[in-house]
Amino acid sequence: MSFVAEFAKIPRDKLLLDLYSCTAQDVERALVSPAGDLRSLLALLSPAAEPYIETMAQRSAALTRQRFGANLGMYLPLYVSNLCANDCDYCGFSMSNKLKRKTLNELELMAEMAIIKDRGFDSVLLVSGEHETKVGIDYFKQMLPLVKQQFSHLAMEVQPMSEDHYRQLVALGLDAVMIYQETYQPETYARHHSRGKKMDFAYRLATPDRVAAAGVDKIGLGVLLGLDDWRLDALMMGYHLDYLERRYWRTRFSISLPRLRPCTGGITPKVMLSDLGLVQMICAFRLFNQQLDISMSTRESPELRDNLLPLGITQISAGSSTQPGGYQAPDSQLDQFEISDDRSVEQVIEQMQRQGFNPVFKDWEANWITG
Ligand code: SF4
Repeated sequence: MSFVAEFAKIPRDKLLLDLYSCTAQDVERALVSPAGDLRSLLALLSPAAEPYIETMAQRSAALTRQRFGANLGMYLPLYVSNLCANDCDYCGFSMSNKLKRKTLNELELMAEMAIIKDRGFDSVLLVSGEHETKVGIDYFKQMLPLVKQQFSHLAMEVQPMSEDHYRQLVALGLDAVMIYQETYQPETYARHHSRGKKMDFAYRLATPDRVAAAGVDKIGLGVLLGLDDWRLDALMMGYHLDYLERRYWRTRFSISLPRLRPCTGGITPKVMLSDLGLVQMICAFRLFNQQLDISMSTRESPELRDNLLPLGITQISAGSSTQPGGYQAPDSQLDQFEISDDRSVEQVIEQMQRQGFNPVFKDWEANWITG
C-alpha cells in the first residue's frame, strides 16, 4: 500500500474544474477553517483567493511566528556529483547534455565540508544527479559516516532508493530525504522525463512511503513550478502531504516550491508563476498546515526572498553552489541551474537580523530524543 493507490482515486479533472470555479464565498468559508482541510486548501489556491492574499499573508505570518518564533533554519546544499542517468528537459545535469561531469572523492568531499562548516552551517543537504552505479548506495555508505562526523543534521536529495537502502543510510545518520515529484500530472511528467529510471512516475510517487517506512525523520516534498498548472500541482502535493501525515504520524515534513530556472539545454516554463502566485501558495500551505517546514532556496531573487521571509518560510539556504566541488573551486560548466540570490552568508544573515529573524544553524540532534 502506498500513495500510488490513493492517487489513482483522486478525481484530478474534477478538482481542476473546481479550482477554476471557486467563488469568493468558498474562499471566505475556507478562511474560517483552513487547517487540515483539503477543500479549504483548494479554495485558497484558486484564482478566487487572489483578492484575499493580503488577509492570507497576515494570518500566515502570525501562525508561522506562533509556531516557529523568529527562528529561520539555515542549510546549505553540497553537490557531490553531477552524473545522471536520466534526461529531464529542465535540468542541466541531464545525461544528454554536454557537460563536464564530476563526482567528489573523499578528499574533495572533506574540502567542501570544511568550507561549509567554516561558514557556520551544521545542517547540510547532499545533492547529486541520479546515477545508481556510480553515485548509488555504495557511494553514500562510504561518504555518510564522513559527513555525519561534521554535521549534526544530514539531508539528501538524490535518486529514489529501496526501503532497505534507506534503512542502511538511517543507520549511518541520515536524517532527512527530499524527494520532489516535479509534477503530479502523469502526462506532463512523461513529456519531461524521456530517458532513465525517473520515467517511472509511480515508483517516484511511492518513494516518500519507502522513506517513511525506513524511519527517516523528515521528508521533503516538492513540485517544479512551471511544468504544468501550478494550482493543481500544489493541490496534489497537499493531498500527498495529507496522506503521508495520516499514515506516518511520527515523521516531520517540509515542502519546497522551486520555480523553473535557466540551465544548460533547459526549457522555457510552460506556465509562469508570478511572485504574487508564489506568495499565495506559501500562505495557502501555512494556513493548511501549521507544523510544516517551508523551504526557500537561492533560486529566487534577494528582494523576493527578503519579502517572503515573514510570510511562512522556515528554512533558507544562503551562499549556495549548485555544482560538485563548487565551494572550493567554482566552475560554471558544472552547474545544475543558475542561482538568483548570490549574496554571501553574512549578507543574508545581516538582512535576516535587520528583519528581526534569528538564524539557526543547527536543525536537529538525534541524541535529543534517544539520549
Ligand atoms: S532533475 Fe535530477 S534526475 Fe533529472 S537530470 Fe537533473 S539531476 Fe538528473
